[in-house]
Amino acid sequence: MRITKNHVLSLFFPPRCPVCDEVIFPDRDICEDCRKKIKRIREPVCKKCGKPLADERGEYCGDCSGYSRRKQHFYTQGKAVFVFEGAIKGSMYRFKYGGRQEYAAFYARAAAEQYGDWLRRNGVEAVVPVPMYSRKKRRRGYNQAEVFAKALGRELQMPTDCGMVKRIRNTVPQKELSEEERAHNVKNAFQFAANIVKYKKIVLVDDIYTTGSTMDAVAEVLLAAGVRKIYYICISIGEGY
Ligand SMILES: [Zn+2]
Ligand SMILES: [Zn+2]
Repeated sequence: MRITKNHVLSLFFPPRCPVCDEVIFPDRDICEDCRKKIKRIREPVCKKCGKPLADERGEYCGDCSGYSRRKQHFYTQGKAVFVFEGAIKGSMYRFKYGGRQEYAAFYARAAAEQYGDWLRRNGVEAVVPVPMYSRKKRRRGYNQAEVFAKALGRELQMPTDCGMVKRIRNTVPQKELSEEERAHNVKNAFQFAANIVKYKKIVLVDDIYTTGSTMDAVAEVLLAAGVRKIYYICISIGEGY
């Protein structure tokens, strides 16, 4: 048997089920029982931010509806893979804080399966992760959005660009803040960091979408730099009702 890089890697990072965290066979990405425990995003969803809607007749969630002052997002459209509830919460937590970078393969496969066509239809050229402040990344050892972006880039056979935008100051975790505070918290936190605009249409990726303040802050910077359209994919999102 020829020893490949993947075999060697699996000794150090044995594939684990992203839900129960048990070691699983290398040809599996999740236990069958665990697959049933997580909820994929299904239509109807908000046409702007991708949050699940309770009602088929609605086009937009409360946050994005035309009657709301918050409708002006800088991104064009976004999608998410899982509903942020139940078993996926623990999975996301270990992926973000517990060093379980290997979960990215599962998340990326699910994202590519569900949204690969949508991205290609929209002419997306590159995957760009929401950046983490450099000191924070050194402390944690990795940026989970970047790990997911690279896995997604591989799945889609699309370049991943981790140097396009930079987080120039540390920000308080968004979940600790109110909605108004969130927008303020990420204002001026990002900077275009490339020399030229290599891509006209990109997909931003992050682990969790809440109010979209972070996505919008990054999208605003990219638009100002000359990127024409910004889509996004998040691993999980809360419900829009
Ligand atoms: Zn499992
Ligand atoms: Zn929405």
